[in-house]
Amino acid sequence: MRKVAIVTGASRGIGAATAELLAKNGYAVCVNYLGNETRGNEVVAAIKKNGGNAIAVKADVSKEEDILRLFATVDKELGPVTALVNNAGTNGGICEVADITFDRLHSVFAANVYGTFIASREAVKRMKENGGGCIVNVSSEASKFGGTNLSHYAASKAAVNTFTVGFAREVAPFNIRVNTVSPGVIDTEMHHSSPPDRIANLLKTLPMGRMGNVTEVAEMIKWLVSPESSYVSGAIIPVTGSR
Ligand code: NAP
Repeated sequence: MRKVAIVTGASRGIGAATAELLAKNGYAVCVNYLGNETRGNEVVAAIKKNGGNAIAVKADVSKEEDILRLFATVDKELGPVTALVNNAGTNGGICEVADITFDRLHSVFAANVYGTFIASREAVKRMKENGGGCIVNVSSEASKFGGTNLSHYAASKAAVNTFTVGFAREVAPFNIRVNTVSPGVIDTEMHHSSPPDRIANLLKTLPMGRMGNVTEVAEMIKWLVSPESSYVSGAIIPVTGSR
């Protein structure tokens, strides 16, 4: 069967690296993005330049109607999805609980948690019909230590971890595997809005003395959607440089 991957949030960072790596490994790839059309198209162009097949689809994973349209587009243009990477996410900005608003909480949970649930639901419908598939969620090590003034984000990623365990058991009989990659601190634009002293303090806590790079996370995702990981499901795998 044709290998078709949807990578959410693939216009930059971990998602872009994953989309490019999966394309090199024979997947036709849907590069999803939120608003940055130019960057989404650049990832597609890079894939095509290497002989791969890809499309860019704008869709907000915090909106159910956008997710439905995303999957319908992929059905039509690439075929039914065989690998879903729920990578799109937002940290919602640094904020103490004392200042949290319902709207901020809602936007973080809608993208990180509801988006992961609903995209997974759409993928599983297709995977059940077509004999199986793989889903990889991207959570965060913040789910374990709570983040620093990012408890809204950390809690949303803890929800993704718990979802992974329950969902993996539910779909295991259908030859569908569900796993989560839990990155530590990875060098992406997600950190660009942080104050420089926050980044400097963060760097001091990293045992390898550096952030991870996007390829180091993408390689784990690639392995989790490959037959080499055929007995791995319901796992939450840290990619943290031992932090
Ligand atoms: P990033 O560089 O900030 O890129 C975020 C990507 O997600 C972009 O492609 C963005 O699209 C897209 N996106 C954001 N909200 C979306 C939405 N509602 N619907 C669809 N797409 C959306 O992020 P990153 O650092 O690569 O992070 C990727 C994942 O890894 C996230 O889930 C993040 O929580 C997790 N993670 C990151 C780190 C880290 O240190 N970087 C650590 C642990 C976990 P546009 O370009 O169109 O805006």
